Amino acid sequence: MNCTDVKYDLLNLLEGDLETSQEVQIRAHLSSCETCTANYNELQQTLAIIETERTAVLDDDFSASVLEAIKEQNQTVSFTSRMKQVLLYAAVVSIGIFIGSLTANLLVASNDQVSHDPLQELYLDGLKAEPLETFLISN
Ligand SMILES: [Zn+2]
Repeated sequence: MNCTDVKYDLLNLLEGDLETSQEVQIRAHLSSCETCTANYNELQQTLAIIETERTAVLDDDFSASVLEAIKEQNQTVSFTSRMKQVLLYAAVVSIGIFIGSLTANLLVASNDQVSHDPLQELYLDGLKAEPLETFLISN
């Protein structure tokens, strides 16, 4: 087995794709040939770098997909909590309007009976003295 034969099979040797008899022959050549051993070591280092890069690329894809999933989950959660906030706000506003109208009705009812505001009393007295019907008939 010469250097050219070994050169073409170095990659197969590194990948473990050789039959045992071929591997034994190539390793025998490597043990006696510095040039082929240097090529073997260089190819081994290159493959190690490629493997590292490939793993790094896979890690980037993985982390990117994880980040994407987290972002989607956060958007879903924030949308849900935003909907809850809107519903809570609407409920509070509705209750406020209800209580406000109840209070206004109570105030109007109590004002019909007794008014402590002199200005309002005057206004109401004026209305009592001259109701709308009287005003319309007399004019
Ligand atoms: Zn050689």
